[in-house]
Amino acid sequence: MSFIVAIDGPSGAGKGTVTSIVAKKNNLLYLDTGATYRCVTLRLLNEKIDFNNLDSDSNSERIKQILEDIKIEFKKEDNDNYKVFLDGNDVTRKIREKDVTNHVSDVAKLLIVREKMVELQRRIAEKQDSILEGRDIGTNVFPNADVKIYLDASVEERIKRRVKQNKEKNIEMSEEEVKENIIKRDNDDKNRKYGRLMKADDAIYIDSSNMTIDEVVNKISKIIKSKKKTYYRIQKGYIMTKETIGKKVRRKIVKVLLSAIYHIVYRIKIVGKENLKSDDGFIICANHLNTLDAAGIVLFNKKEVRFVAKSDLFRSKLLLHFGHLFNVIPVKRNSGDIQSVKLCLKCLKDKKILGIFPEGTRKGLEKNTKIKNGATYIAYKAKAKIVPVGISGSFKPFTKVTFNYGKPIDVSRFKTEDPNWIDNATKYVMDEIIKLSKIK
Ligand code: C5P
Repeated sequence: MSFIVAIDGPSGAGKGTVTSIVAKKNNLLYLDTGATYRCVTLRLLNEKIDFNNLDSDSNSERIKQILEDIKIEFKKEDNDNYKVFLDGNDVTRKIREKDVTNHVSDVAKLLIVREKMVELQRRIAEKQDSILEGRDIGTNVFPNADVKIYLDASVEERIKRRVKQNKEKNIEMSEEEVKENIIKRDNDDKNRKYGRLMKADDAIYIDSSNMTIDEVVNKISKIIKSKKKTYYRIQKGYIMTKETIGKKVRRKIVKVLLSAIYHIVYRIKIVGKENLKSDDGFIICANHLNTLDAAGIVLFNKKEVRFVAKSDLFRSKLLLHFGHLFNVIPVKRNSGDIQSVKLCLKCLKDKKILGIFPEGTRKGLEKNTKIKNGATYIAYKAKAKIVPVGISGSFKPFTKVTFNYGKPIDVSRFKTEDPNWIDNATKYVMDEIIKLSKIK
């Protein structure tokens, strides 16, 4: 997964200028997503599509066809700037002209256009560390972006900047026209049905009205630098370290020490150990009560159990160290983390035991979170069984904690043509866990 910076905000807030400088400074691929919508608009204008009736059936059909063969490319020049190509022609300047500018927000409203452009933007940015500027990057294109900025400025300031920029680029538009266009686009972009312009909850808000370009660039670069540090540490979590003799000995020592402490602090009861006997790889799925429940499963199993844990844990140097020692597999939550799935499948192929909490978070059942299908999906793909375990106890010092292992479940018996089969299988696994957690 590449490092992604999302810069969203209204027209004229300075996104283009700032983002292209930040990209050069921080060695990121710069992707101007507005240019992709501008290219589609130019192509529709060239094809003489009736803009008063963009979503009529016949126009929708034509636009669909156009989107199938449209070719939008960004090519880097020697001076590190980008040129935009539409169907092989350099349109860098043309897409900034009045006609395109006046129609682009109508085109960007269309769902078929958005779907296609978002797919293109993701495809480009997933290949390398990138910075994307637009309207819906942090909310829709990359909702898990590593850095999210919402760059704003007052309407008056934005109009002033756009008029100056147009003059520099020899683009003919009066101040009145610029004003009208910015107000219309603000309104269209903020109120449309799909991919609307809004600040993501976790985006950092910057009002650039009274800031110089350098000030904005420095502020964003600072944020990127600090986030990159943690990003690379988290990425390190995905690199499984070699199973050297030294590592095995260290793991053994830590296991013996921690099990002794665990035994002093809690009265441990383990039921159903016979269900863990398989020589093949399998998955242990448990309810998640406390941070220490995963440790209990790892420490009191003779064989190695590799737990799946949220990647954010590896922000801490100490936890990254322990993660490597116990071959913990990181996962970015709610993001379809392919890297993580691959590591899980490899773990099962190597006949190891994988530990997963289908609740995805501590006390997920109590919080009513949706039970995750990841374990069921991986078990099905790897043709591995799931051993459910119900954990019970308060985790207060000197009280009893029970690990109650149930019979292995073959999830493939739930497979049907119905796409919801996986939900049914996951529900069965979770119900078994709940039953097992009630026997103390
Ligand atoms: O950023 P720029 O002014 O070039 O964007 C042109 C138009 O493209 C915007 O007014 C908006 O309607 C649309 N756009 C969008 N989503 C993006 C980027 C731009 O809808 N991510």
